[in-house]
This record gives sequence, structure tokens and C-alpha cells, in this order.
Amino acid sequence: MQGAPLEPDWTCPFCSLLCDGFALAGTTLQGTDCPRALAGLAAHPPGEVPLALIDGDTVPAEGALAEAAQRLASWQQPLFGGLGTDVAGGRALFRLAAATGAICDHADGDGLMHGLRALQDRGQFHTTLAEVRQRADLVVCVGTQAVPHYPEFFRRCGMDRTDTALRQLVFLGVAPPSEVPAQVPCETIAGSGDLMLDLQQLAALVAAIPCGEADAQLVSLASRLREARYAVLVWESATLPLHGALWVEMLNRIVATLNRSTRAASFGLGGSDGAYAMQQVFTWLSGLPLRTRAGPAGLEHEPLRFAAARLLEDHAVDGLLWVWSFAPDRLPAANDLPRIVLGPPGMGPRLREAGIARDCVFLPVATPGLHAPGHLFRTDGVVVPLVAKRDETLPAVAHVLTRMQAHLELPA
Ligand code: SF4
Repeated sequence: MQGAPLEPDWTCPFCSLLCDGFALAGTTLQGTDCPRALAGLAAHPPGEVPLALIDGDTVPAEGALAEAAQRLASWQQPLFGGLGTDVAGGRALFRLAAATGAICDHADGDGLMHGLRALQDRGQFHTTLAEVRQRADLVVCVGTQAVPHYPEFFRRCGMDRTDTALRQLVFLGVAPPSEVPAQVPCETIAGSGDLMLDLQQLAALVAAIPCGEADAQLVSLASRLREARYAVLVWESATLPLHGALWVEMLNRIVATLNRSTRAASFGLGGSDGAYAMQQVFTWLSGLPLRTRAGPAGLEHEPLRFAAARLLEDHAVDGLLWVWSFAPDRLPAANDLPRIVLGPPGMGPRLREAGIARDCVFLPVATPGLHAPGHLFRTDGVVVPLVAKRDETLPAVAHVLTRMQAHLELPA
């Protein structure tokens, strides 16, 4: 933070907390010292020269666009991966996927699927940042310290203030981070080392089901959860293991039990880099979430079989359209697949350095909330508008994809 006060009109797009009320001009950021925001800004230095590439050679953008459309049209089964874009980009991606029969999965699709499967199976009681700030008297962070990936989380929950309902913050299965505000009463429950077992025990205790010799701290936590006026269980998709959907189901079960006699909710941290935006857009446009193909057989949703990593491993696709308008170092996997890449200007040189610019068309695009306005979904499901803060003539993902579709000549 430095210099004279600037207009605090910037919403940070670099994680799904989408914090607002900051000021940004050039490289000067005021209102936060969030390390993730600073790293995000540093990855997009002002004045980068956007260069389109075909197979590593610099070409005019229009030529690259036509070439990309021609290559995409020749693929039998495209995969649209990455999907790090905003709502308008997602809408354009869906239209292009429907036209080409592409399968779509976000780069953080595994984390997305944990919460989705639990939601599909049993439903959930979810809450928002505003509700946590105004009503939560007991917050339990389950297996997550929250701030390593979401540095402003405690502040967004009002924990830096003394006038909120919060009475206690508990960390279950993980040590508290040093960023917990000093005035917040904080407890650690180490548990057994197996968080799934601890959650099973906690679920039984909350429901008053006998469960043998229980951990005394979990007994105490269950009783405080029942007594709380509004308990919130926080989890983070990126920290879950492969069977993470079971964890989320167990959390949802605890919350559902509590809601018979008091109020409680779960709060999932996830959905950064456009992941929640894509999930929402694809669901409202097709009725189905990501990992869906709109092909000749109609809509097919395969949450396991259509995972991008699995499709690549099985050689089940013959071309990759990689869309990532956030960090320029989030590159597509290095393999033999032909690819079209839409990324920030800094991604082009990185493709060359990584030796994956061959058999590749690269098109530079804007980062929403930095070079272009847009909308993203916050981790609690609220849609948030973004403003452009850099006057650079970079096209938005939606614009490039719409133009690519106009060039598309699919075989009859
Ligand atoms: S917590 Fe996330 S949204 Fe908030 S300032 Fe940091 S990176 Fe940006």
C-alpha cells in the first residue's frame, strides 16, 4: 500500500472471495496487502505486448483465429479444458462446445465435483459471507486453515471486528494459522489423525447416537454445536482427498441434524479462477454441470469418465482447447495433443519455454477484473461484477470464442 488515496472501486478477481473496495492504479494497490492479490497483479505486468502464435511463430491475431477455427473443426472429439474465464466466457464456451461436441472440464474439476456430488446426493444448507459475519457464533474450520489460499477469509467473516456474533473459532484436524485475529477465542482439536473418522464420530455425537468411547474434545464440540445459535462448518475443496465427496456428505449430515433444533450451515471454500462461474453457466444453459458433452447423442454427463485428466490419460480426445485468463503459468499438460490456447499475454512465452508451442495456436486474451469487465461467482454463490483497470486492448475470452465460432466450418 502506498501513495495518495485512490478510488476504492476495484474487485479483486484472483480468488473466489472476490474482495471489493480496494483501489488499483497501475501497480499500486491500496486497501489490502493480500499476498495472493499481489502475486496475481505481479503475474500481469502492465504494458505486456500481446502476441498471437502459430506453432511458436508470431502471427497476426486474425490469422491465428482463422487457423484455430480450422484446427478445431478437424478434431473428432475435442476437450475444452482449463475454463478459467468469467460468465460471458462460459456462455461462449458452452455455445462452441455444443457446436463441436466438446467435453468440458475445469482445471480444478476434481475439487468442484466433491461438493457437487454431495449436493446431488443429499442437498445441503449453505450460507454466505454476510450471514457468517452477521449471525455465526461458532465457526469450525474442518481440515483447513482457510487463509493460505483465501488470505482475506477471516476479515471477510468479520473476525477482525469485535461487534459480530462470533464467540468461538475451532480448527478441527489442523493447527490454527498465525493470521487468526488475536481477539478471537480459538481452539484446536487435533482429532485422531483421520478426519473422516472424526467427522463420523462428530455426526453420531451431534445426533445423540451412542458411539463407544468418544474423543472428549469431540464430545464437547458436539455439545457446543447443538447449543450454538448459528454454527458454520467451513471446508475447502482443494484440501479434500480423492474421496472428498464423502467428507462433504458427512459435514452436510451434521449440519442437517443441527438444523432440526437450531441453525447451522456449511461453507465451502472453492471455485476460484472461474470454476464456480463455469459450473453455474453450464448448469443454467443445459441443466447439467461441467463434465458434460453436448453431442449427437444429446447431453451426456459423466462426472468420472469426463474428468480431463482421465480423458487425456485414456487418449480419448484428439484436441485440446485450453482457456485460462488468470495466472499465465497455468499451462495445459505437456503431451502430444494438438492444442489451441487462450491465455494472458505472458502465457505465450511460457508455452515456448515449456516446449509445448508446437502444434499449438496461441491467442492472447484479457484477464477479467484487470483488462476487461466481467462477472464471476463468489465462493458463497453470489455473482459479483468486475471492472477493468488496465487500458490495454486485449479481447475478452467471450469475444475471441465468438469470433472463432464464426470462422468455424464443420464437416457436414
Ligand atoms: S483474498 Fe482473494 S479476492 Fe481477496 S484480495 Fe486476496 S486474492 Fe483477492
